[in-house]
Amino acid sequence: MSSDEPRRGRGLPEHVRRLVSEIETEIGDEDDLSPGPAAGSNGRIETAVREILVEIGEDPEREGLRATPDRMHRMYHELTAGYHVDPDRLINDAIFEVGYSEMVVVRDIPFYSLCEHHLLPFFGSAHVAYVPDARVIGLSKIPRVVEMFARRLQVQERMTQQIADFLMERLSPKGVGVVLEATHLCAAMRGVRKPGTVMTTASVLGLFRRNDKTRAEFFAHLGRPAPGA
Ligand code: ZN
Repeated sequence: MSSDEPRRGRGLPEHVRRLVSEIETEIGDEDDLSPGPAAGSNGRIETAVREILVEIGEDPEREGLRATPDRMHRMYHELTAGYHVDPDRLINDAIFEVGYSEMVVVRDIPFYSLCEHHLLPFFGSAHVAYVPDARVIGLSKIPRVVEMFARRLQVQERMTQQIADFLMERLSPKGVGVVLEATHLCAAMRGVRKPGTVMTTASVLGLFRRNDKTRAEFFAHLGRPAPGA
Protein backbone atom coordinates (compact mmCIF):
# COMPACT_ATOMS: atom_id res chain seq x y z
CA MET A 1 0.00 0.00 0.00
CA SER A 2 2.96 2.28 0.59
CA SER A 3 3.43 2.81 -3.14
CA ASP A 4 0.20 4.83 -3.08
CA GLU A 5 1.42 7.30 -0.51
CA PRO A 6 2.95 9.91 -2.81
CA ARG A 7 -0.19 10.03 -4.93
CA ARG A 8 -2.46 10.81 -2.04
CA GLY A 9 -3.12 14.17 -0.48
CA ARG A 10 -4.23 17.48 -1.79
CA GLY A 11 -3.92 19.05 -5.19
CA LEU A 12 -6.81 16.84 -6.32
CA PRO A 13 -9.64 18.31 -8.35
CA GLU A 14 -12.57 19.08 -6.08
CA HIS A 15 -14.92 16.53 -7.67
CA VAL A 16 -12.35 13.76 -7.18
CA ARG A 17 -11.69 14.79 -3.58
CA ARG A 18 -15.42 14.45 -2.94
CA LEU A 19 -15.49 11.02 -4.54
CA VAL A 20 -12.51 9.85 -2.48
CA SER A 21 -14.18 11.16 0.63
CA GLU A 22 -17.38 9.40 -0.33
CA ILE A 23 -15.63 6.05 -0.63
CA GLU A 24 -13.90 6.63 2.69
CA THR A 25 -16.88 7.86 4.65
CA GLU A 26 -20.06 6.68 2.90
CA ILE A 27 -21.64 10.12 2.79
CA GLY A 28 -22.94 9.27 -0.66
CA ASP A 29 -23.71 12.50 -2.52
CA GLU A 30 -22.65 11.45 -5.96
CA ASP A 31 -24.60 14.16 -7.74
CA ASP A 32 -21.85 16.49 -6.57
CA LEU A 33 -19.70 15.08 -9.37
CA SER A 34 -20.72 18.02 -11.43
CA PRO A 35 -19.37 19.82 -14.47
CA GLY A 36 -17.17 22.88 -14.31
CA PRO A 37 -13.53 23.20 -15.22
CA ALA A 38 -11.37 20.44 -13.79
CA ALA A 39 -9.46 21.97 -10.90
CA GLY A 40 -5.72 21.53 -10.81
CA SER A 41 -5.77 20.99 -14.56
CA ASN A 42 -2.45 21.47 -16.28
CA GLY A 43 -4.04 20.72 -19.62
CA ARG A 44 -1.88 17.70 -20.38
CA ILE A 45 -4.72 15.17 -20.56
CA GLU A 46 -6.70 17.59 -22.74
CA THR A 47 -3.74 18.02 -25.09
CA ALA A 48 -3.18 14.27 -25.28
CA VAL A 49 -6.85 13.55 -26.01
CA ARG A 50 -6.88 16.18 -28.77
CA GLU A 51 -3.85 14.49 -30.31
CA ILE A 52 -5.57 11.10 -30.21
CA LEU A 53 -8.62 12.62 -31.92
CA VAL A 54 -6.46 14.09 -34.69
CA GLU A 55 -4.53 10.84 -35.04
CA ILE A 56 -7.70 8.80 -35.63
CA GLY A 57 -8.81 11.28 -38.29
CA GLU A 58 -11.28 13.31 -36.25
CA ASP A 59 -11.65 17.06 -35.90
CA PRO A 60 -11.30 18.02 -32.24
CA GLU A 61 -12.87 21.39 -33.02
CA ARG A 62 -16.19 20.06 -34.25
CA GLU A 63 -19.03 20.77 -31.93
CA GLY A 64 -19.61 17.28 -30.53
CA LEU A 65 -15.94 16.85 -29.66
CA ARG A 66 -15.04 20.29 -28.39
CA ALA A 67 -15.70 19.46 -24.72
CA THR A 68 -14.47 15.86 -24.96
CA PRO A 69 -10.87 16.45 -23.82
CA ASP A 70 -12.13 18.21 -20.70
CA ARG A 71 -14.71 15.47 -20.05
CA MET A 72 -12.08 12.79 -20.40
CA HIS A 73 -9.73 14.58 -18.05
CA ARG A 74 -12.48 14.70 -15.44
CA MET A 75 -13.52 11.13 -16.09
CA TYR A 76 -10.04 9.62 -15.75
CA HIS A 77 -9.60 11.31 -12.40
CA GLU A 78 -12.91 9.85 -11.23
CA LEU A 79 -12.22 6.37 -12.56
CA THR A 80 -8.84 6.31 -10.82
CA ALA A 81 -9.94 7.99 -7.58
CA GLY A 82 -9.16 4.74 -5.74
CA TYR A 83 -5.45 5.65 -5.74
CA HIS A 84 -6.26 8.47 -3.37
CA VAL A 85 -8.47 6.62 -0.90
CA ASP A 86 -6.90 6.40 2.53
CA PRO A 87 -7.50 2.83 3.77
CA ASP A 88 -7.27 3.97 7.39
CA ARG A 89 -10.08 6.47 6.88
CA LEU A 90 -12.10 3.87 5.01
CA ILE A 91 -11.79 1.31 7.80
CA ASN A 92 -11.99 3.98 10.47
CA ASP A 93 -14.11 2.78 13.40
CA ALA A 94 -15.67 -0.11 11.54
CA ILE A 95 -13.71 -2.99 13.03
CA PHE A 96 -15.40 -4.65 15.98
CA GLU A 97 -14.30 -7.31 18.43
CA VAL A 98 -16.93 -10.06 18.57
CA GLY A 99 -17.26 -13.71 19.47
CA TYR A 100 -18.70 -14.54 16.05
CA SER A 101 -16.67 -17.12 14.18
CA GLU A 102 -18.89 -18.28 11.30
CA MET A 103 -18.23 -17.42 7.70
CA VAL A 104 -19.30 -13.92 6.63
CA VAL A 105 -20.23 -13.69 2.93
CA VAL A 106 -21.00 -10.57 0.91
CA ARG A 107 -22.17 -11.49 -2.57
CA ASP A 108 -22.85 -9.66 -5.81
CA ILE A 109 -20.98 -6.44 -5.15
CA PRO A 110 -21.05 -4.59 -8.47
CA PHE A 111 -17.79 -3.00 -9.58
CA TYR A 112 -16.38 -1.11 -12.55
CA SER A 113 -12.67 -0.94 -13.27
CA LEU A 114 -10.30 -0.13 -16.12
CA CYS A 115 -7.94 -2.70 -17.59
CA GLU A 116 -4.44 -1.33 -17.55
CA HIS A 117 -3.60 -2.83 -20.94
CA HIS A 118 -6.22 -0.91 -22.93
CA LEU A 119 -7.82 1.56 -20.50
CA LEU A 120 -11.13 -0.07 -21.38
CA PRO A 121 -13.66 -1.04 -18.72
CA PHE A 122 -14.01 -4.41 -17.15
CA PHE A 123 -16.95 -4.82 -14.82
CA GLY A 124 -18.99 -7.39 -13.00
CA SER A 125 -19.51 -8.73 -9.50
CA ALA A 126 -17.28 -9.32 -6.53
CA HIS A 127 -18.00 -11.92 -3.86
CA VAL A 128 -16.09 -11.59 -0.61
CA ALA A 129 -16.02 -13.91 2.38
CA TYR A 130 -14.00 -14.34 5.54
CA VAL A 131 -14.01 -16.38 8.72
CA PRO A 132 -13.43 -13.95 11.60
CA ASP A 133 -10.96 -14.51 14.37
CA ALA A 134 -12.45 -12.20 17.02
CA ARG A 135 -12.61 -9.19 14.67
CA VAL A 136 -15.29 -8.30 12.12
CA ILE A 137 -15.64 -5.33 9.80
CA GLY A 138 -18.87 -3.38 9.23
CA LEU A 139 -20.65 -5.00 6.29
CA SER A 140 -21.03 -1.76 4.35
CA LYS A 141 -17.25 -1.36 4.31
CA ILE A 142 -16.61 -4.39 2.12
CA PRO A 143 -18.10 -2.85 -1.05
CA ARG A 144 -15.96 0.25 -0.27
CA VAL A 145 -12.84 -1.89 -0.18
CA VAL A 146 -13.81 -3.34 -3.56
CA GLU A 147 -14.40 0.18 -4.87
CA MET A 148 -11.04 1.42 -3.61
CA PHE A 149 -9.24 -1.24 -5.66
CA ALA A 150 -11.60 -1.07 -8.66
CA ARG A 151 -11.09 2.64 -9.27
CA ARG A 152 -7.55 2.19 -10.51
CA LEU A 153 -5.88 0.81 -13.59
CA GLN A 154 -6.11 -2.89 -12.93
CA VAL A 155 -5.84 -6.44 -14.09
CA GLN A 156 -8.57 -8.62 -12.66
CA GLU A 157 -6.17 -11.13 -11.08
CA ARG A 158 -4.33 -8.44 -9.14
CA MET A 159 -7.50 -6.72 -8.01
CA THR A 160 -8.79 -10.05 -6.65
CA GLN A 161 -5.54 -10.58 -4.76
CA GLN A 162 -5.43 -7.04 -3.40
CA ILE A 163 -8.92 -7.28 -1.90
CA ALA A 164 -8.03 -10.59 -0.24
CA ASP A 165 -4.65 -9.35 1.04
CA PHE A 166 -6.18 -6.15 2.37
CA LEU A 167 -8.81 -7.98 4.45
CA MET A 168 -6.24 -10.50 5.64
CA GLU A 169 -3.95 -7.69 6.75
CA ARG A 170 -6.57 -5.52 8.41
CA LEU A 171 -8.78 -8.16 10.07
CA SER A 172 -6.33 -10.98 10.72
CA PRO A 173 -9.18 -13.42 10.11
CA LYS A 174 -8.84 -17.20 9.95
CA GLY A 175 -9.19 -16.91 6.21
CA VAL A 176 -10.44 -14.89 3.25
CA GLY A 177 -12.02 -15.84 -0.06
CA VAL A 178 -12.58 -13.44 -2.95
CA VAL A 179 -14.15 -14.24 -6.32
CA LEU A 180 -14.47 -11.72 -9.14
CA GLU A 181 -16.56 -12.30 -12.26
CA ALA A 182 -16.14 -9.71 -14.98
CA THR A 183 -16.73 -8.87 -18.61
CA HIS A 184 -13.77 -7.18 -20.29
CA LEU A 185 -14.66 -4.75 -23.04
CA CYS A 186 -11.15 -5.13 -24.47
CA ALA A 187 -11.99 -8.79 -25.12
CA ALA A 188 -15.57 -8.15 -26.24
CA MET A 189 -14.87 -5.23 -28.60
CA ARG A 190 -11.46 -5.99 -30.06
CA GLY A 191 -10.29 -8.63 -32.49
CA VAL A 192 -12.40 -11.76 -32.64
CA ARG A 193 -15.41 -10.75 -30.61
CA LYS A 194 -16.52 -13.01 -27.82
CA PRO A 195 -19.48 -11.16 -26.37
CA GLY A 196 -20.70 -12.47 -23.05
CA THR A 197 -17.37 -13.98 -22.07
CA VAL A 198 -17.04 -13.72 -18.33
CA MET A 199 -13.69 -14.13 -16.65
CA THR A 200 -13.63 -15.55 -13.14
CA THR A 201 -10.72 -15.08 -10.75
CA ALA A 202 -10.39 -16.30 -7.18
CA SER A 203 -8.07 -15.67 -4.28
CA VAL A 204 -8.27 -17.89 -1.20
CA LEU A 205 -6.12 -17.32 1.87
CA GLY A 206 -5.68 -19.03 5.23
CA LEU A 207 -8.49 -21.43 6.08
CA PHE A 208 -10.02 -20.97 2.62
CA ARG A 209 -6.82 -22.32 1.10
CA ARG A 210 -6.05 -25.04 3.63
CA ASN A 211 -9.49 -26.39 4.33
CA ASP A 212 -11.53 -28.02 1.56
CA LYS A 213 -14.73 -27.76 3.60
CA THR A 214 -14.36 -24.01 4.12
CA ARG A 215 -13.62 -23.46 0.46
CA ALA A 216 -16.57 -25.66 -0.55
CA GLU A 217 -18.86 -23.74 1.84
CA PHE A 218 -17.79 -20.45 0.25
CA PHE A 219 -18.38 -21.64 -3.30
CA ALA A 220 -21.69 -23.20 -2.26
CA HIS A 221 -22.76 -19.72 -1.09
CA LEU A 222 -21.98 -18.54 -4.62
CA GLY A 223 -23.93 -21.42 -6.11
CA ARG A 224 -21.00 -23.06 -7.86
CA PRO A 225 -18.57 -25.91 -7.23
CA ALA A 226 -15.19 -25.03 -5.71
CA PRO A 227 -12.38 -25.08 -8.28
CA GLY A 228 -10.22 -28.16 -7.90
CA ALA A 229 -12.81 -29.79 -5.62
ZN1 ZN B 1 -7.60 -5.08 -21.70
